[in-house]
Amino acid sequence: MILYDPDLTMTHTDYGIMLPISPARASRIIDFLGRAGVLDALPLKPVLNCREARGLLGNPTCINREDLERVHQKEFIATLYQEGPEGSQGLLKALFNAYELMDSQGRPNRYEPDLAVKPLIELFHLIVAQVEGTYLACRLALDQGRSEPGFCYYLGGGMHHARYDQGAGFCLINDIIIAARKLQAENRARRIWIVDLDAHKGCGTAELVHFSRMRGELRGDKDPAAALDICNLSIHMAKGWPLDDETLQVAPPGRAPWIQGDVEISIEAGAEDTYMPELQQGLGLLEKCSETLRPDLVIVVDGSDPYEHDGLPSSNLLKLSLDRCIERDRLVYQYLRKQQVPSAWIMAGGYGERAWEPTGYFLQTLQVG
Ligand SMILES: [Zn+2]
Repeated sequence: MILYDPDLTMTHTDYGIMLPISPARASRIIDFLGRAGVLDALPLKPVLNCREARGLLGNPTCINREDLERVHQKEFIATLYQEGPEGSQGLLKALFNAYELMDSQGRPNRYEPDLAVKPLIELFHLIVAQVEGTYLACRLALDQGRSEPGFCYYLGGGMHHARYDQGAGFCLINDIIIAARKLQAENRARRIWIVDLDAHKGCGTAELVHFSRMRGELRGDKDPAAALDICNLSIHMAKGWPLDDETLQVAPPGRAPWIQGDVEISIEAGAEDTYMPELQQGLGLLEKCSETLRPDLVIVVDGSDPYEHDGLPSSNLLKLSLDRCIERDRLVYQYLRKQQVPSAWIMAGGYGERAWEPTGYFLQTLQVG
């Protein structure tokens, strides 16, 4: 099934943030699948919004502060709830930091407050709602029938750069780990894999998994061992943000992006031919990491920015053709189907007017027959 909620559309320009992210990316996917006549073909049906998804799941508790604090530093979350010493300024600073709205000289960067039609501060509520979408997609995947492994594609989410105590790379909080840890806390899933296909290294996810493992006990987690059951794979550009020299120079050791994920695959510029065999091999390594135990759920961070027509300059070091993007997604999809593992897919990075294409064409291939 597909989880698509127009109310969660992130129109960054409404807040004065100038990013090459098309707010129409998700709606174009739905329009394309509708025109192709495949929206009623299993396993895509039905298309639900968050309210319908909640109803189907018996109205579960919404993502709340406790869910954020289970993963991120408590002081950081207090800042986002405007309870830090700086009040609302603290939240604004956190958003400025996550979206890099100021350059090193203190001048506005990709920020045009005069063009904003909504207060920047309100973006936080939409971000939390996006996290909820990721959680609901996981629940929908887990709750589907027994004969086929559950599958839910959420047209949102994927904030994989958000770190323990700060946002980064357009990501304020990490929906992937928040959803995964909530599912563990609710005993809905224990062993969870994260397969991150975005062009940029899932550096925040790697940091949070690592920190959860190292510090779970210190932070008073009720179940510190649960973090051990999250294994992550990231296949990404070998260089470029966040692995460019400038970022690495200022990043403290032992923090993202220095922290290695469980399985890391770096693709050098021009080495796109190695992408598929490396990914295939990476899934095998993930199995080893997981001590060959099958996961209860896999969250696929299905970034479209490796696509050769992606519109973000910083993702240009990886250029997969449309066919290869589809092949990539199908490889992961078929692998999970064969393993009989439910999966929640989230949209993650994708920039410019053609970012809808890899997801749209992949989903089109899933029609029955
Ligand atoms: Zn990306």
